[in-house]
Amino acid sequence: MKQKKFLLPESEIPTAWLNIQAIMPNKPLPFLHPATKQPLKSQDLYPIFCKACSDQELNQKDVWIPIPEKVREEYASYRCTPLVRAYELEKALGTPAHIYFKNESVSPAGSHKLNSALAQAYYAHEEGITNLTTETGAGQWGGALSYATKKFGIDCAVYMVKVSYEQKPYRRSIMQTFGAAITPSPSMSTRAGKDILTKNPNDKGSLGCAISEAIELAVTTPGCKYALGSVLNHVCLHQTVIGLEAEKQMALAGEYPDIVIGCFGGGSNFSGISFPFMRHNILEGKKTRFIAAEPASCPKLTKGKFLYDFGDEAGKTPLLPMFTLGHDFKPSSIHAGGLRYHGAGVILSQLMKDGFMEAVDIDQLESFESGVLFARSEGIIPAPESCHAIAATIREALKCKETGEAKTILFNLSGHGFVDMSAYDSYFSGEMQNYSVTDEDLVRFRESTEALNR
Ligand SMILES: *Cc1c(COP(=O)(O)O)cnc(C)c1O
Repeated sequence: MKQKKFLLPESEIPTAWLNIQAIMPNKPLPFLHPATKQPLKSQDLYPIFCKACSDQELNQKDVWIPIPEKVREEYASYRCTPLVRAYELEKALGTPAHIYFKNESVSPAGSHKLNSALAQAYYAHEEGITNLTTETGAGQWGGALSYATKKFGIDCAVYMVKVSYEQKPYRRSIMQTFGAAITPSPSMSTRAGKDILTKNPNDKGSLGCAISEAIELAVTTPGCKYALGSVLNHVCLHQTVIGLEAEKQMALAGEYPDIVIGCFGGGSNFSGISFPFMRHNILEGKKTRFIAAEPASCPKLTKGKFLYDFGDEAGKTPLLPMFTLGHDFKPSSIHAGGLRYHGAGVILSQLMKDGFMEAVDIDQLESFESGVLFARSEGIIPAPESCHAIAATIREALKCKETGEAKTILFNLSGHGFVDMSAYDSYFSGEMQNYSVTDEDLVRFRESTEALNR
């Protein structure tokens, strides 16, 4: 029998995260204070994030950051996650490529997000913080943080984008099950929410607005800090457990990837699967290709510009140097596949600029078609986000079929789709459509961000 699944014993769970900032040839540009435009120090982030995360955010010195033992213990409840050779998908495609996927859907939260949620909840607890607040769009991050805070005895308040709150009741129930308090956003509980609701009482919310509300609660409430599930450097750092395990597992399989693929929202799961392999490109000149798969309806890497921009809609965050569509960007509401954030993480943006990674944009229908083929071949229903990575993988595998090359492709299965079956329904019913942003929209949404950079 051919070996399909590669696992590591608990003792092999990584003991340190990889801080790629420390080995990047060009370091990320500094974050800027929104009013003074002066570079920020980690102390400037302390009012918002816990100290450990603030320090990790701007750490460009230490290559390895130890994983606290209590976090490793929590990791051990679902890690090491399986690395799987997708023989059945290869067969369905008739490709000579060797396709592997790292299965992050086995975590209690159903996605990779728990890898950072546990770290953030642990540090908050260590620093005597009693409450973490955050925003959630589709609800995956909220679910992960709800569980992680429960593990470390912290209260969790989640601002959930109103449209998701109404349309995705099961994610809300998951957060409630883990014990979080959930407020639909925009809400009247914050200045940011009130401003939006007085302009438009029927506003259905956005991730940007929910971020503003959560940050406002954190800076105005003693003992409360903010936690973010993507984009930021410390989140990408925590996710490197994925690739560090995958590196050892690929070695067990006797292979090394020619291509590494991850779907891309703000960049955390892509960082997680990529950075450990990318370090060998940076340090030893290896030639692995790294492909970020983003939705055609929110194409920050393929159609965005490298600018300083706010991380949120209300302009409360520091200015971040990143590939962005503009903080005013509103993704089309017909897009069901997640990954709707307007910008890319700072580290990733610099790596993209320096040619260490590539990006492709994937239409909605292609992503679901790919996800369905994967489900029928491998028996796992992927999250709509993950379907983008699968689509990019299939494209590369089909190129191998044309050229006859047996390349080794590794992708990250960032989560399962059990709570996203309504998106699958809309695909099967034929309601789902493709949508690409028009050039006029790109220019229009970017206007105020371009103005910030003048
Ligand atoms: C949140 C999420 C993503 C996108 O976020 P990244 O930070 O880009 O990884 C992708 N897949 C799943 C399953 C998610 O929950």
